[in-house]
Amino acid sequence: MAGLSAATRVAAEGGTVVVVEKAERTGGSARFAGFVWTTPTVEEMRRVNPDGDPGLATALVDGFADGVAWIRSLGVECRPPVPVLGFGRGHQVDTNHYLDTCERLIRDRGQEVLTDTWTRALVTDDGAVKGAECVLPDGSVRRIEAAWTLLATGGFQGDPGLRAEHVHPRAAHIGLRANPHSRGDGLALGRSAGAAFGKKDAGFYGHLMPAGVSLADPARFVDLALYYSEHALLFDTTGERFVDETVGDHLTAMALLERPEARGLLVADARVHREWISASYVEGIPGVDKFQLCHRAGARSAVADSLEDFASMPEEWGYPGATIRDRVEEFNAAVRANATTAPGRLLDRRPLDEPPFYVVEAAPAITFTFGGLLIDTEARVRSAGGAGPVPGLLAAGADAGGLYRRAYAGGLAPALVFGLAAARTALAGAPTTAAR
Ligand SMILES: Cc1cc2nc3c(=O)[nH]c(=O)nc-3n(C[C@H](O)[C@H](O)[C@H](O)COP(=O)(O)OP(=O)(O)OC[C@H]3O[C@@H](n4cnc5c(N)ncnc54)[C@H](O)[C@@H]3O)c2cc1C
Repeated sequence: MAGLSAATRVAAEGGTVVVVEKAERTGGSARFAGFVWTTPTVEEMRRVNPDGDPGLATALVDGFADGVAWIRSLGVECRPPVPVLGFGRGHQVDTNHYLDTCERLIRDRGQEVLTDTWTRALVTDDGAVKGAECVLPDGSVRRIEAAWTLLATGGFQGDPGLRAEHVHPRAAHIGLRANPHSRGDGLALGRSAGAAFGKKDAGFYGHLMPAGVSLADPARFVDLALYYSEHALLFDTTGERFVDETVGDHLTAMALLERPEARGLLVADARVHREWISASYVEGIPGVDKFQLCHRAGARSAVADSLEDFASMPEEWGYPGATIRDRVEEFNAAVRANATTAPGRLLDRRPLDEPPFYVVEAAPAITFTFGGLLIDTEARVRSAGGAGPVPGLLAAGADAGGLYRRAYAGGLAPALVFGLAAARTALAGAPTTAAR
């Protein structure tokens, strides 16, 4: 998303670009995504993402409308705005149409898109990045000289070791809900040129998925995502709640990673099943019975006729069923009495008391990492030495860090907005090495 957006804008303005794509086909995770969205205001962004870089957050919100206008200018439909995740706003877009249109425009302008090609090193000269050395499908090496080099490899979620190092030791073992090629190549290349990494403990964007179910088929990334957790109760292996589930499934996914074994039991009742499990999650996407899909996919799941049945939960599941039964009853009593619950319950305080009860074992799965190469609002990569940007080096999309810290307000939009910012920087002329 970031790389093609940047390259298309440069090519459209008559510039020279080479897109280097490691996979057989361009498009990455953006091919699975459907909504270009973020918060409608800077204030809302600050509220949901208080620890993110305020400059980047403002640039994202301020640049969003131009990003949408850019997509439309290519003849790609952005549907009328709809609410997203309760606090955001965005447009449904056929991302495949957008990405294919970008690629076609680049080629039509006589510019190159190299697929099945990877970058083994950046070309540097006296601290400035001057291009890259790429390995072509036949194994030969091509040196590409460039005034500007944009790193847009989509983050490091595909590398278990980097996940363990930068996200959480248990993250090495979580499911990957994204394209398999984003394995931190941009991060390594950027750091080799002296780029700064941030922020520490930034977290990741992901969702709860049924534990232990293979995510090899990308159709499952959305079909099996347990977005409805915001209206359910989640218990860890000790039988306790540990997070306010209602503030967002993507936040709950981060919280579950920190619990023992990073797995938990998601409990819903018949009302939640009717109103959320089988209903549409976001306007424009038809609802499907996720519980059925998870069950059919082999998830550890059950339908209990009463809360009493929890006491006879199979031992091999490894949860104290009677404790969970008690906790559900205590939760119901508290919300009926309008009393506080621990943890809190901000957004949906209705009891879960309509049998039958739908139980699925959930685990976090990662879509992209929030930590990355620190950039400024023009997508220039900051140097680890702190003395301004690394000359000639840009980053955007999930390769860029600093925007979000343990919070999320869109993945396509930052890739688009900072991809276009990178194009703007490149079109403005060659870097000045004095900036360093
Ligand atoms: C199922 C799913 C649904 C999603 N839904 C939404 C949504 O509705 N709204 C939203 O805002 N976000 C959504 N996202 C997130 C969104 O797709 C990403 O945030 C966005 O695509 C990030 O853009 P990017 O350019 O950084 O990475 P990508 O779009 O993933 O592109 C990275 C590209 O880099 C390539 N690459 C990796 N390493 C190299 C290398 N060494 N050399 C060359 N190329 C390399 C990859 O193959 C890939 O093509 C979704 C993601 C998934 C998986």
